[in-house]
Amino acid sequence: MSNRHNSTDVILIGAGIMSATLGAMLKELVPEWKITVFEKLATAGEESSNEWNNAGTGHAALCELNYTDEKPDGTVDISKAIKINEQFQVSKQFWSYLVNSKQLNNPQDFIVPLPHMSMVQGKNNVAFLKRRFDALSSNPLFQGMEFSDDPEKLSEWIPLIMEGRSKNEQIAATRIESGTDVNFGALTRKLFDSLKTKQVDIKYKHSVDNITRTREGLWELKVRNLDSGELERHTAKFVFIGGGGGSLPLLQKSGIPEGRNIGGFPVSGLFMVCKNPEVIEQHHAKVYGKAPVGAPPMSVPHLDTRYIDNKKSLLFGPFAGFSPKFLKTGSMFDLIGSVKPNNVVTMLAAGAKNVSLTKYLIQQVMLSKEKRMEELRQFVPNAKSEDWDLVVAGQRVQVIKDTDAGKGTLQFGTEVVSDADGTIAALLGASPGASTAVSVMLELIKKCFPEHVKEWEPKIKEMIPSYGVSLVKQPELSRQIQQATSRTLGLDEAAALQTSHS
Ligand SMILES: Cc1cc2nc3c(=O)[nH]c(=O)nc-3n(C[C@H](O)[C@H](O)[C@H](O)COP(=O)(O)OP(=O)(O)OC[C@H]3O[C@@H](n4cnc5c(N)ncnc54)[C@H](O)[C@@H]3O)c2cc1C
Repeated sequence: MSNRHNSTDVILIGAGIMSATLGAMLKELVPEWKITVFEKLATAGEESSNEWNNAGTGHAALCELNYTDEKPDGTVDISKAIKINEQFQVSKQFWSYLVNSKQLNNPQDFIVPLPHMSMVQGKNNVAFLKRRFDALSSNPLFQGMEFSDDPEKLSEWIPLIMEGRSKNEQIAATRIESGTDVNFGALTRKLFDSLKTKQVDIKYKHSVDNITRTREGLWELKVRNLDSGELERHTAKFVFIGGGGGSLPLLQKSGIPEGRNIGGFPVSGLFMVCKNPEVIEQHHAKVYGKAPVGAPPMSVPHLDTRYIDNKKSLLFGPFAGFSPKFLKTGSMFDLIGSVKPNNVVTMLAAGAKNVSLTKYLIQQVMLSKEKRMEELRQFVPNAKSEDWDLVVAGQRVQVIKDTDAGKGTLQFGTEVVSDADGTIAALLGASPGASTAVSVMLELIKKCFPEHVKEWEPKIKEMIPSYGVSLVKQPELSRQIQQATSRTLGLDEAAALQTSHS
């Protein structure tokens, strides 16, 4: 172990979108604080935040049917959709602030406009989609949404999906042009490049092995330099555990009581990627369908145009699956290693409750390519096996905890877990994920730095003009903000450009 003792104000563990976002915010709020980042991989944004490891959807509830539940009386509850949309508006405002202040350049490298669509088949689903459309389209956040069950119109919107279908098939879709495709990998790398210019010390190939509290109330991290093998000690007043799937084991090591009785359930992902340029050119949208019965919400199938490395691609998936790893680059012992005396009952309860989900995920892993092609053909009836390859996506570790709904309840959202005095915080869970990074990190700031929030408020409002305001209640402000962010992020121009190219 190196005897050198390094101390800093803030340590960020992990170089994914979450640490990048928190680092960028803190550097604006308190430029004088010293920040060190430890990342075990060789570069930033290589795990879930990487463009090939997630679906790149700017989640704003414009197309995801799981954010609008149907109530027993048949009405559609849009409250979750409004919340997610507002959170995405917050992300766009922060990214615009960084572009306007020249901290991020060429926004088209990380965000482009792309129509978001929901597509359903069958009489009941079509009726539900129409009710969902009626509930959303009058809301200012969802303005411009269109509905159609006319095969001609649908062929215009989604020719690849409509080709080869029988005329009698009941099918309908909604479409909204204000959707986006976000390259979270590119965004993460750009944010870390910008942090580097602000003297943030970013240490790649450094793995955090342990976290303990010192007698003085600081946090001491044991960090392994993966090149030299040397163990280093680093202390900080505040630690953010932004290790993605790797956050839970680190939270457990910190020993804070708030991290007890929490478990993690890893869900892996696979996409099919199209390699035929002619097929890729026939599609221009993100089209979300309905999750099969028994499937977890993150395995809603979707057929997406993506812009990766400035090249148009076409992906279908994700197929969920089971793997005991917490990170794509993790170990087969991650899951078993996370079972501790304080969470074993919670984990066992979750295991007993989720037998059918586990079975579903294991079945999904075992699917042959031809079986996956059958699922794809529900979207693209004429899909040819030779045009599609499989790619492994990232791991999501869903939180398991005891709630009012019972012991060992599986959670599908994200959670900030922090200690009582706000000196350490971890981000667990991965849905809706990267799209909501800015709101989630704002929540963390409020939780961990309550004594500073008043003094930081003017700067936060400069970065996020809608801070503290409900956009859905202020349609005029919402319109102005959406116009301004679209202009700054080049979403209007890029839309025009793409339309002229397609
Ligand atoms: C299949 C799939 C599809 C998704 N689709 C979308 C989508 O369409 N839209 C969306 O908004 N979100 C999506 N998400 C979620 C989104 O990708 C994640 O929420 C987000 O990337 C998480 O960012 P992060 O910074 O927390 O974690 P990560 O990007 O995983 O970064 C964590 C980093 O911590 C490092 N690390 C871990 N442990 C240690 C340690 N001990 N020491 C040092 N470093 C460590 C890792 O190497 C990694 O680089 C998807 C996720 C998956 C898996």
